[in-house]
Amino acid sequence: MSHVFARHSRTDLRQASIGKGAYLYDADGKEYFDGSGGAAVSCLGHGDPDVIAAVQAQVAQLAYAHTSFFTSQPAEELADRLVAAAPGDLDKVYFVSGGSEAVEAALKLARQYFVEVGQPERRHFIARRQSYHGNTLGALATGGNVWRKQAFAPIMVETSLISPCYAYRGQQNGESSFDYGQRVANELEAELQRLGPETVIAFVAEPVVGATLGAVPPVEGYFKRIREICDHYGILLILDEVMCGMGRTGTLFAHEQEGITADIVTIAKGLGAGYQPIGAMMCTGRVHQAIADGSGFFQHGHTYIGHPTACAAGNAVVKKLTGGLVERCAVMGDKLQAALEAEFGQHPHIGDIRGRGLFRGLEIVEDRTTKAPFDPAKGLNKLIKKTAMSNGLACYPMGGTVDGQHGDHVLLAPPFIMEDDQVDEVVSKLKKIFDAVL
Ligand code: PLP
Repeated sequence: MSHVFARHSRTDLRQASIGKGAYLYDADGKEYFDGSGGAAVSCLGHGDPDVIAAVQAQVAQLAYAHTSFFTSQPAEELADRLVAAAPGDLDKVYFVSGGSEAVEAALKLARQYFVEVGQPERRHFIARRQSYHGNTLGALATGGNVWRKQAFAPIMVETSLISPCYAYRGQQNGESSFDYGQRVANELEAELQRLGPETVIAFVAEPVVGATLGAVPPVEGYFKRIREICDHYGILLILDEVMCGMGRTGTLFAHEQEGITADIVTIAKGLGAGYQPIGAMMCTGRVHQAIADGSGFFQHGHTYIGHPTACAAGNAVVKKLTGGLVERCAVMGDKLQAALEAEFGQHPHIGDIRGRGLFRGLEIVEDRTTKAPFDPAKGLNKLIKKTAMSNGLACYPMGGTVDGQHGDHVLLAPPFIMEDDQVDEVVSKLKKIFDAVL
């Protein structure tokens, strides 16, 4: 019997044994195409020799030094790289070990910013339903995934949730996608009015919604309106790019495609590409300066922040991403979308095929016309995952609560190194899986 505390205590997991390129192999040698990079992590695929060499060299030279005493060359270099590549005024980078830590740091920084500038009455966050920002208590409170929050609701900070920008379900008949985006963005203004705008710290959103909805991009103009409202009421805009960032959507930062800038951005997953656990919170010079000019101390921290070995992996990864791999992700993403549409565009149970770059979602419905989802009792996501694994495809099926309804989707986030024939492989494996399950 395994003594590992697995999340799914009733599922027997196979041991992953080898990772090579876009494939994983279990202990029996069975091959799996890594169709979701774990959870949108493995952007470079497995066994990348440059990242391995960078990690090995750093471990040998200086594996770790505590940030109370030292900074390190890899941390300085990675911060420079990220700031040089980031849109807007993002000027400072705070390294952590993963996505939830990045979001916690962002929430605390935003609150401390207002304490430092003499507005301690600001205490509310506004976020969106059907979002996911991590599993630590602060990040979980900010997320809108009902299922994940349910058991912990009584011990969490209360967060206001407005509608996501989810055109497939939210756009009404006769409404243009632009008008739809403005309508849901204006919910932020209404919520600010309800709470009292002077009590609100920040609005938190994923530019492209990942785990909860399955690669849902915003409609044009949505985030511009959100930015306008944030500026008008003096609240901060926190964009969570933990899943959709680091090139996944075809640009290094997903929000570059919205023509807006953020006050705080969180990244993780693709930053370490699975070679090291690393995340980061980036903030503007203005936010950082308020602390530098005020108390001079960000009241936050963990033992492993700014970990030199993790930062060395991050440098090797970002070098590759900015050296042409992000553009490749955009090209391969278009090919994947076209292949998915060709195969499943008229499928009676695939309601929507969406996403950007190599971040794609297929929404599964019982009825294409009414968009009615399958009965949750069917446990479709579990069935799909099981069938996919036996067909040699690791992908990320989810069943979420969609404005009171249940909805199923499959999230695809394959490595950016994937080849044309692997696009065909993913689509033909999905066909087999859907034929068997739907
Ligand atoms: N934010 C978003 C948008 C995510 O998708 C996730 C994880 O899926 C997190 C935060 C939490 O990241 P982690 O699991 O690394 O703590």
